[in-house]
Amino acid sequence: MQPDEKTCPKCAETVKSAATVCRFCQYDFKMGSSHGGAKRFGEVCFLVGVVLAAAGFFLLGPLVMWTGVGLFLLWFLIMLAT
Ligand SMILES: [Zn+2]
Repeated sequence: MQPDEKTCPKCAETVKSAATVCRFCQYDFKMGSSHGGAKRFGEVCFLVGVVLAAAGFFLLGPLVMWTGVGLFLLWFLIMLAT
């Protein structure tokens, strides 16, 4: 390891010491945790939830729509928790 490098605590790969995000696993050194991953998961829930809710409302029926609404609520909870 070079002096200007550090080891990622999540994936153990060597990255530049000035890096704020691991280039291998997107570990966020500033946050000191994998909150970024939860946030990304929340964004996916939000997008899929909106699409499912709209598709269920217009095309596929209430079951799909409520699944979308559920994902939307999950996104909301993730945003509150992180
Ligand atoms: Zn990493």
